[in-house]
Amino acid sequence: MSDIIRRDPRAEWIARNRLHPLHAAMQPAQHNWMGPNGIIRKNLHGIGFIGPNGIKRIDRSGAQQGGAVKRSAAVEVQLPLHQVPAPAFYITVVPDMVGGRLSSHDRDLLGLAHQLAGTDGAVLAVVFGEHKENAFATAGVDRLLVLEGEEFSGYAPEQRVQGLRAVDNQFNPRHWLLPDSRSGGGELGRRFAAALGERPATRVWQVKDQECIGRAGAGLQDLARPVARLILAAAECAEPVSETRHEALPVELSTSVARSLSRIEDLGAVAVDPAAIPMAEAEFIFSGGNGVKDWQLFHQTAAALGATEGASRVAVDDGFMARDRQVGASGTWVTARVYVAVGISGAIQHLQGIGACDKVVAINLDPGCDMIKRADLSVIGESAEILRALIEAVAAYRNEAKRDAA
Ligand SMILES: Cc1cc2nc3c(=O)[nH]c(=O)nc-3n(C[C@H](O)[C@H](O)[C@H](O)COP(=O)(O)OP(=O)(O)OC[C@H]3O[C@@H](n4cnc5c(N)ncnc54)[C@H](O)[C@@H]3O)c2cc1C
Repeated sequence: MSDIIRRDPRAEWIARNRLHPLHAAMQPAQHNWMGPNGIIRKNLHGIGFIGPNGIKRIDRSGAQQGGAVKRSAAVEVQLPLHQVPAPAFYITVVPDMVGGRLSSHDRDLLGLAHQLAGTDGAVLAVVFGEHKENAFATAGVDRLLVLEGEEFSGYAPEQRVQGLRAVDNQFNPRHWLLPDSRSGGGELGRRFAAALGERPATRVWQVKDQECIGRAGAGLQDLARPVARLILAAAECAEPVSETRHEALPVELSTSVARSLSRIEDLGAVAVDPAAIPMAEAEFIFSGGNGVKDWQLFHQTAAALGATEGASRVAVDDGFMARDRQVGASGTWVTARVYVAVGISGAIQHLQGIGACDKVVAINLDPGCDMIKRADLSVIGESAEILRALIEAVAAYRNEAKRDAA
């Protein structure tokens, strides 16, 4: 037999392609082995590989979801604690806290704040009103200032600007970071900049080498300028914090916040037809695929949940959904906070379209499909049965809420 080592390009391709059904089978059996030159090699892609900081870096095996692989015992990893006992300066982040929780955009900003804070600075998060978040520490918050009070709740940009001015006076942050978003930060940041008389850097997607680069010219051009004190940053401006734990020490304002003479009265949220929301802007999408057998029930469930409807290409090609509802590479790339995939297998073209979604819920018969591997929560079973149960659960929840209110 010849000594020539023959390569199998297909096997190598499958080993690299984590979405291929045979991917796991093509991984080396050991995590560590000695290479031909005596160097210990490590398989970073192996299931549950623990990185140098004790973090389980890549686990796309589906073992942590309801996948075909037997559920492995969760590994509790204590992240190293990052402490800043006496901050030399502050980088202040004002997260949007949509729904009372940090959004992925907020987390990107906290990642950027840590880039700017280095080892001497502390990241201070300013949060308005009540919140439901309990992961400030792992998201990278060194100090947490909660501005409580009725006056800050709802749509109150003028009062919030007053709050931020008080924070500015007390902490004099080196930089202010707000998400340049429609959900609040974009407007609040611009109002705050006007109040301070400072020119903000807007739609910033990169801060590097003392320069920040933002989108300009209807999104067709980049504008580079020295790093501004007030930065309104786009989503994905930096990697979120993932390898450290932070103190999230509560801090308070030493003075009370002046009441603004509000010229705005918040009349509350206006009900909109979820079907009228453009797919790219929808926050809650209920998407159906080839595994939906009862489309009337699907529409009923979407209406009960108040979600915007989406679909896989197969559902569109089969005529069950309109073309403008297609999610994916050749449809719309969506950015929902919650994406529910009913009977969708998770083909790569579909997964590309939901890459920016915060939380994915999969309803599917096949526990080993790629959508289940991508999902944060999976329900394994027959779609019609699960949708019926979902409608009942929503009705029960609403009735209970009505009874409590009465
Ligand atoms: C160039 C190109 C571009 C494409 N662009 C897109 C795109 O933009 N968007 C897109 O979606 N696709 C796109 N596709 C198609 C894509 O490759 C897949 O074919 C498609 O996404 C599959 O749709 P599906 O998951 O609904 O169907 P299937 O792959 O048939 O999956 C159906 C799923 O439903 C589950 N199921 C079946 N019965 C039930 C039941 N009773 N209850 C619960 N679950 C059940 C099955 O387990 C399976 O996981 C593109 C393809 C190409 C070649």
